[in-house]
Amino acid sequence: MKNIAVLTSGGDAPGMNAAIRAVVRMGIISGFNVFGVRKGFRGLINGDFEKMNESSVSDIIQRGGTILQTARSEEFKTEEGQDKAAKMAKIFDIDGLVVIGGDGSFAGAKRLSEKGVACIGVPGTIDNDLAYTDYSIGFDTAVNNVLDAINRIRDTSSSHERASIIEVMGRYSGDIALYAGLAGGAEGIIVPEMGFELDDICRLLIERKNKGKLHSIIILAEGAGDAKQLEQQIMENVDIEVRSTILGYIQRGGSTTAFDRILASRLGARAVELLAEGKSSRVVGIRDNKLIDMEIVEALGMKKVFPRELYELAIKLQ
Ligand code: ATP
Repeated sequence: MKNIAVLTSGGDAPGMNAAIRAVVRMGIISGFNVFGVRKGFRGLINGDFEKMNESSVSDIIQRGGTILQTARSEEFKTEEGQDKAAKMAKIFDIDGLVVIGGDGSFAGAKRLSEKGVACIGVPGTIDNDLAYTDYSIGFDTAVNNVLDAINRIRDTSSSHERASIIEVMGRYSGDIALYAGLAGGAEGIIVPEMGFELDDICRLLIERKNKGKLHSIIILAEGAGDAKQLEQQIMENVDIEVRSTILGYIQRGGSTTAFDRILASRLGARAVELLAEGKSSRVVGIRDNKLIDMEIVEALGMKKVFPRELYELAIKLQ
């Protein structure tokens, strides 16, 4: 194997740049020519490649987003699209590919591996919804971005004696809401894995008001409900002013945390090592702070376990 490539796919996640940097630098150290593929699998189909060198990845370790850009490609989901992508890899003599993304991207990497392009998946998604790894790249930065927002909203909501609902990302996973809620001392955490009763939220807010607390913050995972709707429902039931904020894309931006930079550096470098060892159709991840790798099919077949004990602790400490 002489030439390898790297692409980012699916939603962008802070730390993807640190992973690209690790792949490029580790690839060069290992004696490969390294190519960047712009715009994910779409770029692969179109042959949108760029030869990378050490300086192509200078000054990016701290930056959110991805210098290679990311995209979703419907064409690549078809057999025909995958054939085109595999053919393009052959034309450019690329034998190994590092795919940084989430479960959809991994499914694509598995298909490409079956078509003769050795692929290794690196988990890059803020949702932390991949069961086989304790953390995916971008999650920690997203949690810290939510924490910043909690601090700001606390300042303003306590000045007005309001309750605040903060809706956070995560798709069907409640991890961002849970971790940010626990770290931010939120008074309520609503996640899809546990569900919630409106009456419980109303009682919590009234009890806090009766104790003279000036404000309450409820973190709502996007997969568990709609912030505006919850705001209305609470105000119809209790005499408390509620304001909701949907954080949206600010959760993805900003400087990448040290945790994500280190995780991305370790995982990106390990992916290159696996390619150098002749491995394919595998993903890298982290468990108990140790790097692991396994078959893509096995990883995608695992069911995510919600950290229930952490949730129960957060509820106790509310
Ligand atoms: P995120 O968690 O951030 O959404 P993701 O990798 O799960 O990341 P998707 O949009 O699901 O994001 O997938 C990214 C791309 O991977 C898709 O646009 C498509 O090109 C490819 N892909 C997704 N699912 C499959 C599949 N089952 N087979 C082949 N390719 C797929």
